[in-house]
Amino acid sequence: MNILVINCGSSSLKFQVIDAETEKLLAKGLCERIGMDGASITYENKVENTGKEVNETPMPDHKQAVSLVLNALTNEKTGVLKSLDEIGAVGHRIVHGGEKFTSSAVITDEVVEAIKEVSDLAPLHNPANLIGIDACKALMPGTPMVAVFDTAFHQTMPEKAYMYALPLSYYRDYKVRRYGFHGTSHSYVSKKAAEIVGKPYDSLKTIVCHLGNGASVSAVCCGKCVDTSMGLTPLEGLIMGTRSGDLDPAIIEFIAGKENKTAAEVVSVLNKKSGVFALSDELSSDFRDLEEGYENNHYAKLAIDAFCYRVAKYIGSYTAAMNGVDVIAFTAGIGENSGFVRGKIMEYLGYLGIKINAEENGKRDDVLKISTDDSKVQVYSIATNEELAIARETYALTK
Ligand code: ADP
Repeated sequence: MNILVINCGSSSLKFQVIDAETEKLLAKGLCERIGMDGASITYENKVENTGKEVNETPMPDHKQAVSLVLNALTNEKTGVLKSLDEIGAVGHRIVHGGEKFTSSAVITDEVVEAIKEVSDLAPLHNPANLIGIDACKALMPGTPMVAVFDTAFHQTMPEKAYMYALPLSYYRDYKVRRYGFHGTSHSYVSKKAAEIVGKPYDSLKTIVCHLGNGASVSAVCCGKCVDTSMGLTPLEGLIMGTRSGDLDPAIIEFIAGKENKTAAEVVSVLNKKSGVFALSDELSSDFRDLEEGYENNHYAKLAIDAFCYRVAKYIGSYTAAMNGVDVIAFTAGIGENSGFVRGKIMEYLGYLGIKINAEENGKRDDVLKISTDDSKVQVYSIATNEELAIARETYALTK
C-alpha cells in the first residue's frame, strides 16, 4: 500500500510517496511560495532516480498545489503511480495536538474540529496543516487520511515535567503547559537506537538530541518520553538557528520598555532574530558557516560554544531526571552532519564515562557509533526520518 505523506506549511507543502510494505521511497518533492508570485513545484522520481525537476507554475492556493502534486505523481513520463487509486492513504503531519491527541488519529470531522480547537496553541502551523487536509479531501474524497502529531509522543510526560510553576488557572483555562515538539523524530530515533543496541525499547534510558534549525532534546525512559526541552511553543529550550531558547522571561518587558516594542514584537525577535544567528553577530544561522568562522571569528565561536554548552546542560539534567542514561543519540541536520559540534558537546560528558571514537565521529552515515566499545554510555548519530515514521503510523491505522 502506497502512503502519500503531506507536511503542509503556510506557503509550502512537502510531500513523499512511500510504499508502506517495503518502506521504499517512491517520490518526493516540495511546493514553494504557494499564494505568491514565483511559485514552484520540485519533484523527484526516486524509483528511476531521474533527479530533481523544478517547474515554476502559478499556485493560488493549497488545493492547486495538491492538484499539481497528484498530477506529477501520475504523469505519464515521470510519475510513479498509474492512477490515484494507487494511493491507499494520506498521512498528514500536524504540529499541535494539544492534550487531546496522545497518538495518531484517523481523520474524521470530529478530529478536524479538535485540531481547530487547539489552533490557538500553534497559530502559524495548525491552520496551514488543516488547509492541507481540506485540499486532499477535496481531490481524493474516498482516500482515508491520518493525522500524525508533533506533540503526541511527549504526552507521556509526568505532571511534574509538563507543568509550569504559574497560577493553575493558566493551565485550567488556557492549557498553558509544556507540550514539546519534534515528537515524530524523537520517537523514531529512540526506537531505532534500541534496535541498534539490540535491547528492548522499554528497558533503556535514552537521550535524543534533535539538532536542526529548530532543536530539542528529549529524555525517553523505558519506552516513554519523560521530559523534553521545547515547551508551550517551540521557543523554549536549546539555542536554535534564530530562536533564543531558555531565557529570563523578565527580559521581554525590559526590552519592550527600552525599545518601545510590544510583547509580541519582542517575542518575534526571540523567534526570528535570536539564537546562533544573533550570537554570531548575525553572521549566519547555518552551522556550516559558523564552523568555517570558528577559528577566526570570535562571535562564530561564541555561537557554537554557547549552543554546545546548552545541549550539554540538557543532557546533564535529563541524566539526572532518569537517574542514568544508556544511549545518547544525535539526529537532524546538525546532529547527523557535524562531527565538530557532536565532539564539542561530548567534551562536557567525560564524567558520565563517555569515551568518543574520534575517527568515527568524523564520518557521515545514517547510523554511526561514535563512542568506543568500552564507553559507559553508547553514543550514536542516527538519521531521522519523520516522513517514514508518518507513513508507518498511517499504514498501521488504515491497512
Ligand atoms: P529544520 O528541519 O529544522 O529546518 P534540519 O534538520 O534540516 O533543520 O537542519 C538544518 C541545519 O543543519 C542547517 O541550518 C545547518 O545549520 C545544519 N547542517 C546541515 N548540514 C550541515 C553540515 N554538513 N555541517 C554542519 N551543519 C549542517
